[in-house]
Amino acid sequence: MYKFFLLNSLMLLWSITAIAQCNPEDWIEWGYDWGKVIEKEALKLFPLSEADEEIIGDSLHLQMIAKGNVAKNHPQKATLQRILRKITPHVKRKGIQYEIHILEDKKVPNAFSLAGGHIYVTEKMIDWVDSVNELAFVIAHEVGHIDGKHSIAKVQKLLLSETALSHKYGKEYAQMVGSLGLLLSSPMGQIDEYEADRLGASLAVKAGFNPRDGLNFFERMSKKESKNIIERIVRTHPYSSARHNCLDEYLRVDLKK
Ligand SMILES: [Zn+2]
Repeated sequence: MYKFFLLNSLMLLWSITAIAQCNPEDWIEWGYDWGKVIEKEALKLFPLSEADEEIIGDSLHLQMIAKGNVAKNHPQKATLQRILRKITPHVKRKGIQYEIHILEDKKVPNAFSLAGGHIYVTEKMIDWVDSVNELAFVIAHEVGHIDGKHSIAKVQKLLLSETALSHKYGKEYAQMVGSLGLLLSSPMGQIDEYEADRLGASLAVKAGFNPRDGLNFFERMSKKESKNIIERIVRTHPYSSARHNCLDEYLRVDLKK
């Protein structure tokens, strides 16, 4: 009887987790990502305007510059900017100014974004993608994180914990957040990744790119995941094979692409 109960529980957990991967409904987030609950509380407790978000983002970007690997004049920057300029007219939050930066890193294919509209793409990622459409999907995914408030929610969550440690809630946002190096390049949660894939695909379509190239990206990325270069990323990111399947379903069913 006990074994039967255990087996049933495991099967239920597995099926809900499987659903949770593609459909992060509110009730699933409650069960599977307690961090999202705290983020939602933080969003209510620390409502930030888009102007506040810009100030925070610029402060975080200064820290990125201080790290010393943000390229000043990169020959590929114009290409990235052209892609970004096609995507950003379609965002929901019009008050955010987007800027794209190239990181001088020829080893790790990576891209990430910060609150306030700063997006970073490594040189290796630019070399690694197979097409402009793939690159557009990568960039649109990062725009999705910002437009979907994933990035600013992390700031607000940290403000919540800072306040819990008796810091004063006031105008010193930028300074306080600027001291939180944790925010720089820290990965988003799994639920955010699936949502950013969907938001990114939708933005890529509106911008005139072929979002199905995002599927090629995940196919090739999943081959890399069996090797150790991506291992530390997959702990916080969903597996690329799962993202591929969810994206494929979203493109076929929702976007009819
Ligand atoms: Zn992401």
